[in-house]
Amino acid sequence: MDLLNTLVDKGLRCELPTREEALAVLATSDDELLDVVAAAGRVRRHWFGRRVKLNYLVNLKSGLCPEDCSYCSQRLGSQAGILKYTWLKPGEAAQAAAAGVAGGAKRVCLVASGRGPTDHDVDRVSGTIAAIKEQNEGVEVCACLGLLSAGQAERLRTAGADAYNHNLNTSAATYGAITTTHTYDDRVDTVRQAQSAGLSACSGLIAGMGESSEDLVDVVFGLRALDPDSVPVNFLIPFEGTPLGAEWHLTPQHCLRILAMVRFVCPDAEVRIAGGREIHLRTLQPLALHLANSIFLGDYLTSEGQAGKADLDMIADAGFEVEGAGTTTLPGHRRTAPGGAPADGRTAPSCTPADGRAHADDRATADDCRGANGHTGGCGGASGCGGEAGRTTAERSPEQPGPVSHADLVALRRRGAGTDLAPNA
Ligand code: SF4
Repeated sequence: MDLLNTLVDKGLRCELPTREEALAVLATSDDELLDVVAAAGRVRRHWFGRRVKLNYLVNLKSGLCPEDCSYCSQRLGSQAGILKYTWLKPGEAAQAAAAGVAGGAKRVCLVASGRGPTDHDVDRVSGTIAAIKEQNEGVEVCACLGLLSAGQAERLRTAGADAYNHNLNTSAATYGAITTTHTYDDRVDTVRQAQSAGLSACSGLIAGMGESSEDLVDVVFGLRALDPDSVPVNFLIPFEGTPLGAEWHLTPQHCLRILAMVRFVCPDAEVRIAGGREIHLRTLQPLALHLANSIFLGDYLTSEGQAGKADLDMIADAGFEVEGAGTTTLPGHRRTAPGGAPADGRTAPSCTPADGRAHADDRATADDCRGANGHTGGCGGASGCGGEAGRTTAERSPEQPGPVSHADLVALRRRGAGTDLAPNA
């Protein structure tokens, strides 16, 4: 298939596909799906081998958010029966984080509901970061606290944060239909603040909110322009009691196409399968490991994932390996600081895979390299609070079936952070 050969060539060179090529991936048929997975899998293995990075979510503050993100179980007016609690103490958060690290996670993601942190909140999270780093040598810490004010990213970096998550969620054109209390541009600004402070930027999307294929391509191209190190791909968790609670549009096959498109557009970034993995990919989860190089271990912010052991078994059974703490996630040309933060601006890409392999068995050569740096409020909208992010009518071709609800697969989180029960890790 000429399209896939072209996309592999471009992926190995970090060259941006055209919008038409990205759209064509989303339009492939089920008969072509394994070819799409195989092609995007070549790009994934070129940059990340067969490694899978595990990340662990700790919800520091749950529910009661004043923002109105339609996808979110923690939003203003949400009737979802989620856990609601205020800030965990540093020791409580560290205890939850330690369970994830013991389960194999090399990154802990500290998430708090809300529009953005106060300076006092930043102090509080700084203490939590210190507690986690003291107990877990070498662990990466990502903060996800919402829209940042001036100076807060620098303070988090100084406190030891390696990364900051703030998702774009959906296209600029669609953003106002899912959230009215902050804007797409607010989100872009926070990602840029994080990057300017030397934090590794983590920013992704939520699919399944009824957006069009064009919207999906727009947001992924918007992400590539921002050039985050990590790109979480959430599949909407339609929580009953939220405005998008009936939006069941995704099929496992289409989730794979979306992940493949993201891999082709952001070939050398950590592509992470985030919220909604279990309920939308279902039995096709292992195929998604050929596209993404990163997942969350265990539970999400307000819903339960499959057991942590099932995650580990799936990785092993599919022939992948959990990325060790001593391994660098990102390819060398993307990484200049622990955790992958390009501390002082972007360096020119060398298009050298992380394991140092040359392009001997690939079609591209280093001479062909171009493009990685020329990538043409609320909380991060983080993994598991809803997409854990519009139009509410899915774009569907006539031959596609209508939505089938899998609401029975959505289990609200009742264990781990904020409870007396052991975390799932
Ligand atoms: S995504 Fe974040 S900002 Fe938006 S409602 Fe949920 S917790 Fe609040």
